[in-house]
Amino acid sequence: MCGIVGYIGFEQAGPFLLDGLQALEYRGYDSAGICLNDGSKLIVKKAKGKVFDLRTLTHDGHDTKGTVGIGHTRWATHGEPSDVNAHPHLSESGRFAVVHNGIIENYQQLKNYLTAKGVVFRSMTDTEVIAQLMEYYYKGDLIETVIRVLEKLDGSYALGVISQENPDEIIAVRKESPLIIGLGENENFLASDVTAILSKTRTIYRMENDEIAILGREGVKIINTDKEEIHKEIETIDWDVNAAQKGGYEHFMFKEIMEQPKAISDTIAPRIKNGRVVLDEVNLSAEELKQFNKINILACGSAYHVGVVAKYIFEKMLRIPVEADLASEFRYRDPIVNEKTLTIVISQSGETADTKEAMKEAQRRGSHVISIVNVVGSSIAVESDDVIYTWAGPEIAVATTKAYSTQLAVVYLLALYFGDMLGTVVPDEYKALVQELEDLPNKIETVLENKERIQYLASKLFNSKDVFFIGRNIDYALSLEGSLKLKEISYIHSEAYAAGELKHGTISLIEEGTPVIALATHEELIAKIVSNIEEVKTRGAQVMCIACDNHKELERVGETIFIPRVCDMLLPSLAVIPLQLFAYYVASLKGCDIDQPRNLAKSVTVE
Ligand code: GLU
Repeated sequence: MCGIVGYIGFEQAGPFLLDGLQALEYRGYDSAGICLNDGSKLIVKKAKGKVFDLRTLTHDGHDTKGTVGIGHTRWATHGEPSDVNAHPHLSESGRFAVVHNGIIENYQQLKNYLTAKGVVFRSMTDTEVIAQLMEYYYKGDLIETVIRVLEKLDGSYALGVISQENPDEIIAVRKESPLIIGLGENENFLASDVTAILSKTRTIYRMENDEIAILGREGVKIINTDKEEIHKEIETIDWDVNAAQKGGYEHFMFKEIMEQPKAISDTIAPRIKNGRVVLDEVNLSAEELKQFNKINILACGSAYHVGVVAKYIFEKMLRIPVEADLASEFRYRDPIVNEKTLTIVISQSGETADTKEAMKEAQRRGSHVISIVNVVGSSIAVESDDVIYTWAGPEIAVATTKAYSTQLAVVYLLALYFGDMLGTVVPDEYKALVQELEDLPNKIETVLENKERIQYLASKLFNSKDVFFIGRNIDYALSLEGSLKLKEISYIHSEAYAAGELKHGTISLIEEGTPVIALATHEELIAKIVSNIEEVKTRGAQVMCIACDNHKELERVGETIFIPRVCDMLLPSLAVIPLQLFAYYVASLKGCDIDQPRNLAKSVTVE
């Protein structure tokens, strides 16, 4: 949540900070600000609103001089989005400036303590205590003071700190929230993620908890809280700089929808060798795998919906009970998890706080954890026992599409890999499934080609107030994602229901003209879902149906979108495309801010 960025070098810092914030804006966008040291004092420019507003205020960062500075784009946790609550925050006399991603859980005690000592606070944020503590403890040594302040803080943070008296240094430190240091020639950077610095450098340090980076113009030194130097490995990022740009598309979301065939192919292809799925990343022998009596999947949001799909697939193919759990609930319910449980955690960013904490709880209870993560070197990737990366490339739109799809692709790979090891998938079926999996990107291309039809259907429904999504089995799992996508970006209220469950209560909400989007792809259950469709039509619903092209007869139930028939396991990857496009076109017709929907942010690093 929120993006922090910093620059120190020989160029003017302002323009880079603005560009960096723009790249990080998907992480939070209710206010933004920068602070530069002009050689004698700290100058702060900040404003409620988007980075665009800050650009206007600062003339693209050119109106404030200084070759060292920090910036922030906020997703408010403490204190409403406003000019005064925007970061950077200054200490009382203006000697220290701080940008912060995360939450200081004991900020109220610290604030009370400092207030009693006469310190006057300006904002409602938790973050301001950090700046005020810096000034309160400062006795002439910047590093010493940072270390002293860190001892007082509970919670999570990635911090960038600059001081009026040290125009040649930025201090950067993290605990739980992500932070990288970019290494340039006579200039160095800090950022919440690499997208902010890709245009400048590809060599980075990935900061670990409690490491402190001291950024100078000509070098970066990393120390621990005992001031001992740490020699870290330099990482080279291979993400293409264009991958984090819109490339002619109007929105990142649309670009990312269209990138799905490639992203899935990049995720699958290297892991299929001579017709067999090879997952070298998973360190489990067949014997070890056979010891598990349960699989637990932990995730949030759309990644959780991947987990619900996976439950159906794994149970069918592996014959092991599977629980898909909301990560935010998991660790507060004394879960029954032990060394006989295999845990799978799913997170695009690898920094999702709820998922990370749930993962740690599972590990504490002795469970082996496999993570499915998009960002290389992220916390979950590093801390899980095994990591399977999705090769989706940077996903910038807040509403996920290609990360969701590549996570599904990894679920298929795991189902086949484990099914083979356990002997629960027979060889002929295995061979056929692998072939279909390899052909999946082509099939997705075909569905994408049908986008005008979905645009047309969106134009019929975009004025709706409520939309219902129904399905059975995996189609139900998918309807959860279709409904979330629509809510997230179009602000239309929608609900996903297991089609058979609707009649047990919610059908009372169906009236003349209520849109119902029915997913009817699951071969075995076509007759059942058709009955459920008839039930809602009888009560006036306007039905839109997603079905496979071997069931043309479904045209009679309502407006139908056909997808190619593939095996049941792979259907979600095709059926989700119309759902994504539908949400996208509806939001576009409503004039919504598609890439940065209100109240949301990507990479949710607070619990
Ligand atoms: N907790 C801080 C605030 O509300 C930082 C939030 C963020 O990560 O954007 O200002």
